[in-house]
Amino acid sequence: MANRTAGVGKFAWLNGTFVTAQEARVSPFDRGFLFADGVYEVAAVYNGQLIDLERHLERLERSLRELGYPKAPDRRQLEVMHRELVTLNGIEEGLVYLQVTRGAYGGRDFAAPAQPRLTMFAFAEGKQLLDTAAHRDGIRVIATPDIRWARRDIKSVGLLAQAMAKTEAKAAGKDDAWFVDAGGTVTEGASANAWIVTQDGDIVTRALSNDILAGVTRLAMMDLVSQTGGKIIERSFSLEEAKQAAEAFATSAVALVTPVVELDGVRIGDGAPGPVTRRMQALYRQAIGAR
Ligand code: PLP
Repeated sequence: MANRTAGVGKFAWLNGTFVTAQEARVSPFDRGFLFADGVYEVAAVYNGQLIDLERHLERLERSLRELGYPKAPDRRQLEVMHRELVTLNGIEEGLVYLQVTRGAYGGRDFAAPAQPRLTMFAFAEGKQLLDTAAHRDGIRVIATPDIRWARRDIKSVGLLAQAMAKTEAKAAGKDDAWFVDAGGTVTEGASANAWIVTQDGDIVTRALSNDILAGVTRLAMMDLVSQTGGKIIERSFSLEEAKQAAEAFATSAVALVTPVVELDGVRIGDGAPGPVTRRMQALYRQAIGAR
């Protein structure tokens, strides 16, 4: 799918106004900058259409509620803004990023203001999501201790642990990282939900809790599988179990369904994307209207 735009699009959106990405400015006193007091969403675009936008906006509202915001931004305004960004930037395939923070107050007070003056920023990016080498051949993933905070269900912009994990993966010559908690179970990927297919053919992903982000793609996948009469088992699995799985894959709005062919130096299955993963990819492709 040819994009008219590759990379960050020319037009962004800041606090209700479309601006060029180059001229967008926020204050260094913004609580997002000082405290990582902000949340975000990333929605995929395919064929010029936003995928699962409503679910992304629902999750954004949930994140804000959990952080005590008295009121959510106008949902309709955000929907229209997403579509406008896609059109203005000529995005056929890619993503829209939206960040909401509690704004700037000219000082540095840890306690959040009762009435936040939101900073809202969004941009669009043209990017190939489907038919990538990662989708075709799978990725190699390191395991790393989950050093993140305890509210991973909130899609916070505090992503230092994720950035460290991905940097560690790159330095090791691998593609990505999966987090492992103190009990030895896999929580999720650094920016994706983690799945395995057991030797018995069960499709397993961790149950929702504060330990992981409720992935929109994870939810979409669960719907798709149940519509075809299939079943997904929501339970924790250890790193050891994952290494011995028949298959493994990761899901996210940007990674879609990406096969994992190596975990922590161990080949998964025969080291190539397996049939269940291929079926998941096919189901997802069909759902977003890809051939
Ligand atoms: N888990 C984490 C830690 C993530 O950062 C992401 C996406 O960025 C996901 C899971 C997948 O969520 P979604 O499918 O909504 O993109």
